[in-house]
Amino acid sequence: MYIGIDVGGTNLKAGLVSESGAILAAERTPLVFHGAEDFAKTLAALAGAVLEKGGAAPGEIAYVGIGIPGAVAEGKICYTCNIPLQNVPLSDLFRKYLDLPVLLENDANCAAVGEWLCGAGRGTEQFAIVTLGTGVGGGFILNGKLYAGSGMVGEVGHMVVEKDGAPCNCGRRGCWEAYASATGLIRMTRETMARHPESLLHRLAEKDGVEGRTAFLAAQQGDCAAKALCRTYVDYLACGVTNLVNILQPEAVAIGGGVAGAPEALLMEPLRQIVERECYPRHTGKLPRILRAELGNDAGIIGAALLGRAL
Ligand SMILES: [Zn+2]
Repeated sequence: MYIGIDVGGTNLKAGLVSESGAILAAERTPLVFHGAEDFAKTLAALAGAVLEKGGAAPGEIAYVGIGIPGAVAEGKICYTCNIPLQNVPLSDLFRKYLDLPVLLENDANCAAVGEWLCGAGRGTEQFAIVTLGTGVGGGFILNGKLYAGSGMVGEVGHMVVEKDGAPCNCGRRGCWEAYASATGLIRMTRETMARHPESLLHRLAEKDGVEGRTAFLAAQQGDCAAKALCRTYVDYLACGVTNLVNILQPEAVAIGGGVAGAPEALLMEPLRQIVERECYPRHTGKLPRILRAELGNDAGIIGAALLGRAL
């Protein structure tokens, strides 16, 4: 058995995970940051809590895998964007409180491993995942191994898809993330609303505010401006996915994150059509499968727990 921990910006989630990737027990706690030492102690306590809940002893655990929203290398957190942890030897700190081997990895890479072993990527040797949330994340399995590089690999959201386009948090303009993330979709939804006072988008936004799903909900109800907006969104999404396919030639690409829950006919179907029409591997007839990710929020825990199988 393994323990997988998913460190999010607001919550810490841990699971006791079987060899086959089943979550046997899970716990979560809000992230309240009081320094690196306290952070490690909280993670160890969370791991202890899932052990207890699952009725397992530390001796039955091969290792604890921890997914971090940032760059990691050799048991250290090098950088995170949401939590003030830089150059923190998390593995060593953790082991002061719970003496088990620790594997640290970037959270998107953990999600890639989870989907590869237990979700949409099962049975492939070359696999990519793209997550559409606040930003656009990515992770790759190449030749049956996680491609982790030097800790900052897979920042797919920061490839430019529109030269001199919308500004991105990273300092560049026109990054994929500025268009294909939920945040980008919300920005484009607001722009569409400003141009189309007649659009149903306004009525939907009155109720719930502008969300990632607002455009898809309005398009489903036949709103013309929203339908055009969804097509534009999928065009940008497909541009980045096609770029990835051309570089990596994965057998499958999984699309995850909140936006991936959009209706099949408005998101996955047109995405597949564009990628299949435009990607370079079409010349060989080896088209990648473009799939919805299957594990949802559990991908991070499962992937962190099964990291050892992807190294
Ligand atoms: Zn960027």
